[in-house]
This record gives sequence, structure tokens and C-alpha cells, in this order.
Amino acid sequence: MPGHPAINLRDAEGPDARVEALVARQSEFFASGATLGREFRDGQLTALGHAVRKYESKIQAALHEDLRKSKVEAYGTEIGFVLAELRHTRKHLAKWMRGSSWFAPLVVGPSRSHVHHQPLGRTLIIAPWNYPFQLAIAPLVGALAAGNVAVIKPSELAPATSALLAELVRETFDEQLVAVVEGDVSAAQSLLAQRWDHLFFTGSTQVGRIVARVGAEQLCRVTLELGGKSPAIVMPSADLDVAARRLAWGKFTNAGQTCIAPDYLLVHNSIHDTIIDRLRGAIRSFYGHDPRQSADFGRIVNLKHLQRLVKLIDPEKLAVGGDVDESDRYLGPTVMTDVTMNDPIMADEIFGPILPVMRFETLDEAFEIVSQRPNPLAAYLFTKEADEERRFVERVSFGGGCINNTLMHMGDPDLPFGGIGPSGLGAYHGYASFEVFSHRKAVMRTGTFLDPSVKYPPYNEAKLSIFKKLLS
Ligand code: NAD
Repeated sequence: MPGHPAINLRDAEGPDARVEALVARQSEFFASGATLGREFRDGQLTALGHAVRKYESKIQAALHEDLRKSKVEAYGTEIGFVLAELRHTRKHLAKWMRGSSWFAPLVVGPSRSHVHHQPLGRTLIIAPWNYPFQLAIAPLVGALAAGNVAVIKPSELAPATSALLAELVRETFDEQLVAVVEGDVSAAQSLLAQRWDHLFFTGSTQVGRIVARVGAEQLCRVTLELGGKSPAIVMPSADLDVAARRLAWGKFTNAGQTCIAPDYLLVHNSIHDTIIDRLRGAIRSFYGHDPRQSADFGRIVNLKHLQRLVKLIDPEKLAVGGDVDESDRYLGPTVMTDVTMNDPIMADEIFGPILPVMRFETLDEAFEIVSQRPNPLAAYLFTKEADEERRFVERVSFGGGCINNTLMHMGDPDLPFGGIGPSGLGAYHGYASFEVFSHRKAVMRTGTFLDPSVKYPPYNEAKLSIFKKLLS
């Protein structure tokens, strides 16, 4: 029943018998077939929606405590995001579950082919700290819609949201269907030591590799939602005011701790100074003269990450910001100019409120700079030229992105969200989530009113020529 005791492995070492027992209970429940029906799944999604609405202010408070998110940001990027995903999923679930069917080719007839979406079973969702609510619950929507049981392991680096997730899930679901296991790496390891049917991981590329290895050992399906350095390219034809606002918003939302934030900016030489100027203006109009006083500018998750970020700032290249207050985990919105690929800021994903800007002369040169790095999770182009847009979409390899915008592609549930290569494996949101948590079982139903003898021995030349006609 909902209300079961909490499982918190924060301080535990090694595999935990309670985790083993939990996974065994979930396996048994899944095997009973209870999750197969649409009414059951819809009921669980409805209950999740009620719980998210009921907990709205507690979720906002937890996100404020962990990351100093404003109420509007918390609603737009986490709570409202999840509610929209739920609404979309409930609206389309019956159609998705029906699958697709069609008349099979004559040679295998008289038959109809059908794709049946079979739930996978035991799913493990491992979440990061930057959108600690959304990135735990949005995958759960897909897992439940597809008829699975699930365990969520939230990030220990967002402890208020982790505790909140445990409470919300405990109150809403029977633990044989959904449970939260809190804790750090040892909790994740303890969970990964169990048998799973799907591992859904969001986090760093390094840990993604560990999860992929577990998937390889168990031969279970794996989805990896990872990170990378996502570029934004600005061309002279772009509306520079709009570009600067959308870039500053995409970069400084959640203090830059967004996996699809524009990591670095490539600006055509002719508009470089204008863009820097407009970025400065956009930052001021969003957060005022002292962003530290703004209720809308977040904080760095912890001191270790703040110190890592501060080391990346080259004071010689500062155009905006660079101000730090360790006691408040604060790093102001920062822009660096005339950055080169050799600067430390260009080595790894920044994951903080620092925007390095580089110049280029031709779009091909910009593409060349992007291609020197592993395939990013996102990429953005600001232009009014259709040809530049076409070349960008065709030639640059990235998970997903926008033309003349940032971050917004993740707001359309009909767009699959995921990376490519080192930025991820697989995609989710909307129908893609339903698919990722389902097995596409191929089924053919053949009528018995006709049973042509052509496929049966004894064979002869006449049968061969019929096959040749039917197959080629
Ligand atoms: P992380 O990889 O350090 O941690 C993610 C989760 O994995 C946490 O729950 C953590 O406890 C667990 N974990 C840590 N070490 C582990 C190990 N050795 N074995 C098993 N589990 C382990 O990532 P993070 O710092 O929480 O998040 C930041 C990264 O996540 C960034 O690279 C960012 O780009 C990426 N990210 C990607 C997306 C996306 O949708 N693609 C979204 C958000 C964040």
C-alpha cells in the first residue's frame, strides 16, 4: 500500500537486502500482469498528476533549497513540464497501446502484421541533481504508461528534492509498482547489482559508461541521457536582440546547470561586439545590476562545483560578470570573449553560468570548430537564411536543438529528446518515452481459410517461378 517505510541507503555500504527484497516484490507484481491494462496505467498516471499538484509548493520549496530556483522557473522547467508530459501521455495512451497493424505481403498471406508494445518489466531510473524533480519523474511517466514497475534513484546532491521525491512516491504508489531508493553512489551500485529489464540513466558521460557496462553484463536495455558541450552559432542575418535574449535565458536559467544550455557561443566576426553588448543588456534586464539580489538567478549546487567553475574563468577575457561569493554558492552571469579552443573553459562541459564566446569568419569554419569536439547533446543556430539553416541541420551532428531559440525543443513532447554518441543513447518524451520503455513485439496473424500449397514440399520449377514472381 502507499505509505510504506522509506528506503534510504545514503549511508549504507554494499548491496542491501532491502533493495533485493524490493526488486523481488516488484518482479512478482509485474509478473502478475496487473500493470497490463490501460485502466490501471491511466489510473497510476492520474494519481501521479494529483500528487504533483498536491505537492506543488513542497516541490518548489525543495528546488529552492537545493538550487535556489524561483517559483516560475521551478514550475516552467520541472513541475509544469511533468504535468504537460502527463497530460500528453494520458491523451494518447489508448492510441499508443493499440499499436499498428497492416496487411502483410502476399507471399506470407493471408495475414495481418501487428506491432504490440510489451512492457519491459523492472526499470531503474537514475537521476541527476540539476533538474532533480523533472528528470526523475518524466521518465517515470513513460515507464508507467508502458506498463512497467520502476525504482527511482534520485541524486544525493539535491537532498531536499530527493527526500521530497521519496515522500511523494511513498504516498502515491504501492512500492511493488514504484519506489524511491535514496542515497549516493553506493545506493546506485547496490541497485545496479540487481537484475533489470531497462536502465534509464541521466547524468554524466563517465557514469553513463558504468551504467552501459552493467547493461552489457545483464543484456538489458539501456537509455543514456548524458551531457556535452552544446554550441550556439550566431550569423550576421540573425535578429541580434532576440538572439541575445534567448541565448542569455538558455544559458543562465538554473545558473547554467542545464544539460542543453548553450555551452559556448560561436559568433560571426562582423557582429561580435554587438552580440556581447546585447548579451550584457539582456543579463541586466533579466537580473538587474546585481544578479545576487535577483530572486530569479539560481545558485551553484555545491562548493566543489563552484570552485571548479571559478578556475575556468580567465580574468583577462572577462566581458561580463565573474563575481563570486562562496558563502552563498554564487557565481554571477559571466561572459568571456576571444576564447580559443586551447582555453581551459573549452575542455569540458561547463555546467555553470559562464558563456565563452569565440569568433569565426565562415559557417564552415564554425562547423569545423563544433566537429572538433564530441557530438553535443544540443546545438543552436541563429539566422534568417534558409540555406544556412539547412546546412546546419544536415551537417552538424547533435542530439536535438533549435533554430533561433535555445532549450525550447524539449518543450514539445512530440520531439524525441536524447543525445548521440557520447551525449547519449536513445531518446524519450511523449511517444518516444512509451516506445523506449516498451518492447516492440512483432506478431503476425494468418487466416486459415486459405492455405496455398506453394510453400510446402515437394518443390518444383513451377513453385520456384511463383516465388520468383512474388519476391522479386
Ligand atoms: P552524475 O553522473 O555524477 O550522477 C548522476 C546519478 O548517477 C546520481 O544519481 C548519482 O548518485 C549516480 N552515480 C554517481 N556515480 C555513480 C556510479 N559510479 N555508479 C552508479 N551511479 C552513480 O551526474 P550529475 O553530476 O548528477 O549530473 C550532471 C551531468 O548530467 C552533466 O554531464 C549533464 O550534462 C548531465 N545531464 C544530462 C541530461 C540529459 O537529459 N541528457 C540532463 C541533466 C543532466
